[in-house]
Amino acid sequence: MGEVLDFSNISPHIRRLLQEIGMFGEETSRSVYVVGGFVRDLLTGRENLDIDIVVEGDAVDFAGQLAKAWEGQVHAHHQFKTAAITRLDGLKLDFVSARSETYSSPGALPSVEYGTIVEDLLRRDFSINALAIQLRPDTFGELVDCTDGLRDLRAGHIRTLHEQSFVDDPTRIFRAIRYEGRYNFQITAGDQKRILDTIEQGVLDLISGQRIRNEIDHILSEEAVPQMINRLREFDLLGAIHPTWKAPPDFDILWTAAGQAIEWASTSLPNEPINTGAILWMTLLTAPDAIEAVSSRLALENQLYAKLNAQTQLEHDLNALSALSKPSEVYHLLNPYPPEPLAFGMMQSNQPDWRVEKIGDYLTHLMRVQPLVTGEDLIQRGLKPSRAFSDLLWKAFAAQLNGQVSTAQEIYQLLDIEK
Ligand code: ATP
Repeated sequence: MGEVLDFSNISPHIRRLLQEIGMFGEETSRSVYVVGGFVRDLLTGRENLDIDIVVEGDAVDFAGQLAKAWEGQVHAHHQFKTAAITRLDGLKLDFVSARSETYSSPGALPSVEYGTIVEDLLRRDFSINALAIQLRPDTFGELVDCTDGLRDLRAGHIRTLHEQSFVDDPTRIFRAIRYEGRYNFQITAGDQKRILDTIEQGVLDLISGQRIRNEIDHILSEEAVPQMINRLREFDLLGAIHPTWKAPPDFDILWTAAGQAIEWASTSLPNEPINTGAILWMTLLTAPDAIEAVSSRLALENQLYAKLNAQTQLEHDLNALSALSKPSEVYHLLNPYPPEPLAFGMMQSNQPDWRVEKIGDYLTHLMRVQPLVTGEDLIQRGLKPSRAFSDLLWKAFAAQLNGQVSTAQEIYQLLDIEK
């Protein structure tokens, strides 16, 4: 019999739900387990509301029946033998059929068949994620630990379950780095070597850009990102994704600036739809040739690509700004830029105060100024669109931005146009 776990640090509500699932398993003669991150975090005393249930047998059928009993919504993926239930109380639980997997070639997606809980645990990434808890009433709370996951969890080790694990699925390299940084654990010496060997074999070239991108997004959403980036650097993992890509040497400083930019934008630009992910990517992908190559390799969306490029361009353009620049000059210079590189640029540690003020003023105020006189207004007054017409329009708007005029009337006077 496995170790029986202490459930005292999970909420009684969750505990009751798990018991209900176990009782339902008993009634329908299926063994059911809670697995993965929930168990890992229960054992390390962290809250994790991602509840993954493994059913020995058909999880789609099981979840369908349980959802009826709970009056919840069920979404099934028959192809993957998985289902999710959203309960009336808002909790979402994932159900998967215990399965065994085989990899036909490195980096390919595995072929999947029904299996036992032990087979299911053995196909997982690391021992600390290969822990399950029995839910049937007679064995409720018993740990299933066929890979010494509990020992590794206590020792703080990230350990794969077999020699070929990283070759089968190189995304596990990123996952290892993420768990290591998050829990302040250590990837075992053997696995560090396997990571280097896998990279050396070029297996990363076989996986899709989208999958790599997802892993990097996951890393960027963690707290201990600088530690994780150090690891990426030690393994030269970014260079293995594309030879032009290196983690910036001053990453930690950029990371602090990104955090400040996001926080500043959330309080100072509450109505602006800021893409915080783009700001995070600006810390990692800074060199123009790498931006081009990596965006293409990782299939980054055009908008993100444009924002990353804008950031490098902005660095040059900011030199044209001076402490004496008028609001219209600030507007003219910064208007081509989206808010993300501006907010990020503003928080760079070497930025003089006056520049921070000017960018801040642009983002919170100038950017939103609506012209008192529009092109339409000028056309109504008999002017024809032309180069001179655009110059006139800009002259009007610049005067407005600089506070020289405050009504349309004053603008017409300035432009010498009959009202
Ligand atoms: P996190 O807290 O990062 O979300 P998690 O353990 O919930 O951690 P998921 O990505 O949701 O992580 O995956 C759930 C479980 O599925 C993991 O605990 C692990 O057992 C297994 N798993 C996920 N990805 C892989 C993979 N690439 N290879 C093998 N097993 C995996």
